[in-house]
Amino acid sequence: MRVLVLGGAGFIGSNFVRHLVSQGYTVAVYDALTYAGRLENITDLVEGGRVVFQRGDLCDEELLGDFVKRFEPELLVNFIAESHVDKSINEPSRFIRTNIVCHHILLEILRRLDKPLLHVSTDEVYGDLPEGVYADELYPLNPSSPYSASKAGFDLMLKAYGRTYGLKYLVVRPSNNYGPRQHPEKLIPRTVIRLVLGLKATIYGDGSQVRDWLYVEDNCRAIELVMKKGSAGSIYNICAGEYATVKDVVSKVALLMGREPSEWVVHVRGRPGEDRRYAMKCERIRELGWRPLVSLEEGLARTIDWYKSNEWWWRPLVDEYVLRDEPWVARR
Ligand code: NAD
Repeated sequence: MRVLVLGGAGFIGSNFVRHLVSQGYTVAVYDALTYAGRLENITDLVEGGRVVFQRGDLCDEELLGDFVKRFEPELLVNFIAESHVDKSINEPSRFIRTNIVCHHILLEILRRLDKPLLHVSTDEVYGDLPEGVYADELYPLNPSSPYSASKAGFDLMLKAYGRTYGLKYLVVRPSNNYGPRQHPEKLIPRTVIRLVLGLKATIYGDGSQVRDWLYVEDNCRAIELVMKKGSAGSIYNICAGEYATVKDVVSKVALLMGREPSEWVVHVRGRPGEDRRYAMKCERIRELGWRPLVSLEEGLARTIDWYKSNEWWWRPLVDEYVLRDEPWVARR
């Protein structure tokens, strides 16, 4: 099967590309290589002729349209996004541009060329959930940040294009991913790198925010399964059932790295509008036969090992993304 992966140089996208190649798919990647996308994530595959790469902006209708016509994918899988909640607090317009305006251009290309899309949404579209409530795929969208609102906005537009124009689509809504090649701006890599550098790990607010933690390879297997067995026009939540607070996860990382949390973890100001709890029902993906294979403990250990062995990968990003204690506060 020929698959075009949009955003395949980013964190989940590059892990997904690696997964597809290992399963024998013919793969192409289209990615603008913004600050978050790194060709290093897939260079070996591109240079080895296993993946065709085209650098380009999702808003470039002509370039992307021509690339789709040339590669002739049977399916497009879309990981492109401005993906960092911290950034969306200070620069919401970037999120509206990429996650809504450029995504609308993508819909027009798909409509014109009659190609199906598997779109990667997020659990954040369901917003803050009260204790004891788990969102299934029909739960109302109730986003809190400019990031999650932009993701929810596109989910609705995609549904409308399915209904109005017959566009073929699938949607997945994964929980918090972690693993190799995640940008150092995100919680777990930031924590590991700060501890490697001898800096204290930081937690936003009291750290009692509850999340489900999904190892990226488990997510990639789930997305491939939806590609193969998902029923058209459906949404699939993907969660590991590994619920833990931010504080617990940061403490676990510290302990796995031989650092006493009471000494090595500090609290900084919380982000405005931050959701307290995300939680989903994931029966639908389990009915397709998927189970997470990597426990939180094991996934964290693997992630720590990867960052320790790949300092070349994160070192150039340290000054900008790791050293500040409260990165979501706008620089003056
Ligand atoms: P990422 O930020 O690591 O990667 C995004 C990729 O999109 C990068 O390669 C970047 O270069 C590319 N990109 C951004 N703007 C572009 C544009 N205008 N044109 C072309 N390419 C552009 O993100 P990620 O963490 O890998 O997330 C991938 C997808 O999964 C996103 O849609 C995100 O919303 C969703 N998601 C992420 C998580 C998570 O925990 N990371 C959880 C649930 C859902």
